[in-house]
Amino acid sequence: MSATLIDCPNFIAGKWSVPDTGETGPVHNPSTGEVIARVPMSGAELVDEAVRSADAAFHDWWQTPPIERVRVLMRYAALLEGEFEDIARGITVEHGKTLTEARGDLRRGIEVVEYACGITDMLKGEILENVARGIDCSMVRQPLGVCVGICPYNFPALVPMWMYPLALACGNTFVLKPSEKVPLTANRLIKLLDEAGLPKGVFNVVHGGKECVDALLTHPLVKAISFVGSSPVAEYIHRVGSAHGKRVQAAGGAKNFVVVMPDAEMDEAVAGMTDAAFGCSGQRCMSGSTAITVGSAGDQFVPALAESARALKVGPTDRDADAKLGGVITLEHRDRVASLIQAGVDEGCDLVVDGRDVSVPDCPNGFYMGASVLDRVTESMKVFEVEIFGPVLNVVRMDDLDEAIDLAGRVSFGNGACIYTQSGRAAREFKHRVKAGMIGINVGVPAPLAYFPFSGWDYSFFGDLHMQGREGVMFYTRAKVYTERWFTPGEGEIWHKD
Ligand code: NAD
Repeated sequence: MSATLIDCPNFIAGKWSVPDTGETGPVHNPSTGEVIARVPMSGAELVDEAVRSADAAFHDWWQTPPIERVRVLMRYAALLEGEFEDIARGITVEHGKTLTEARGDLRRGIEVVEYACGITDMLKGEILENVARGIDCSMVRQPLGVCVGICPYNFPALVPMWMYPLALACGNTFVLKPSEKVPLTANRLIKLLDEAGLPKGVFNVVHGGKECVDALLTHPLVKAISFVGSSPVAEYIHRVGSAHGKRVQAAGGAKNFVVVMPDAEMDEAVAGMTDAAFGCSGQRCMSGSTAITVGSAGDQFVPALAESARALKVGPTDRDADAKLGGVITLEHRDRVASLIQAGVDEGCDLVVDGRDVSVPDCPNGFYMGASVLDRVTESMKVFEVEIFGPVLNVVRMDDLDEAIDLAGRVSFGNGACIYTQSGRAAREFKHRVKAGMIGINVGVPAPLAYFPFSGWDYSFFGDLHMQGREGVMFYTRAKVYTERWFTPGEGEIWHKD
């Protein structure tokens, strides 16, 4: 255990405070295994305080002209740039991803803030004159009220920022429940939002776990819930939140396929797949966790990919700039990933690269896991079906593209699917027919940027409107339609001549 723990207070009604009683949970540095902070496990009482504070601040924030709201976000973006490196380093310490990946995590988040700065245009309504003689009809979009964000651990900056910049720009107030595994980055992001001049109560943070989430899901003053996390929890959030009358968008887990055709530019495919499968130690909802090699592609692809996987240095990302794979989020998660690899071996696939027995002598207690490659995986195996969420690539070998597209279509998840090919015809066929919401052509991680929806399908998303882009604006607002008629003035009334 480290000597000094970092503070992890809640932020309610413009005040930072650590609850003086109640349960706390550990926050680890996955590189060392040390506990670096203890996060409060806030219960219903603190949730109620946070929601009431957001509700009290709503009216005035809604009435604030959108361009003034934008000015706060512009100052916020500048403050984030000023502390960019420090925040990225903090992500590396509490999450374990590399500094380059942490910078990407924050950069993509700042891009959502920048996108939200265009809200004055995106909030404009519609009007049609003379829907009947002398009657005009117009539509405006108004904010919902108190919105809630519940986040996973794997993108400590980006995922919260999928939610609150747009929600606030639209005129809502917000309560954030960060992942209890990476709460420190969220607090840093929110400290800067406060410094940017957001009025007290407009933004609140409550830390905690299930009890905290359940109190948010059922609170009568909460109008909308944005959730990102695993699919069983996403399904639960959508069901319970909807039953309590809230608008819900809930993004879940994934199992993404990358088809490698025999005509693929093989060096590019191997480089792209190395990043897609092992980047962030595989802890990405858009990771390319299954490669489907078609025809002769497998014999070229697998040995080259195995070599690339073996070359990835495992080490403490918080101090070693050459380390490409850091610790995974917890010891339990490392053991879960290891047991899934074993399940693959037991079911008969070839373990071409085994990342389980890595040693990092300088940091013996870190949660390390090297890259693993399982070849000749088949549809009936457990490793094919479940989201491993670790640095493990499955390879499935198939005879033709049709079979590959059909296989991807039978999987319950529907986040991403990619193809490496030099054939426009094959790429067109693939992108048109494959069952997933985010498609990559010669791109291993087709994660959409701020101005497009993060459009998972099926068991990867519950709800109608996704995060980011115009769908994000639609989610955080509701339409109001005015129908207006003005009668001809009475005799003698001064209005116009003739
Ligand atoms: P998780 O589902 O365990 O936790 C997510 C959030 O839900 C946390 O804030 C947690 O406190 C809360 N939570 C956990 N269990 C709960 C329960 N039983 N009841 C109520 N709340 C609960 O997810 P995680 O392990 O933090 O994150 C990894 C998962 O997130 C992966 O499945 C990954 O694919 C997914 N993810 C999806 C996307 C996407 O866009 N689809 C993006 C990032 C991560």
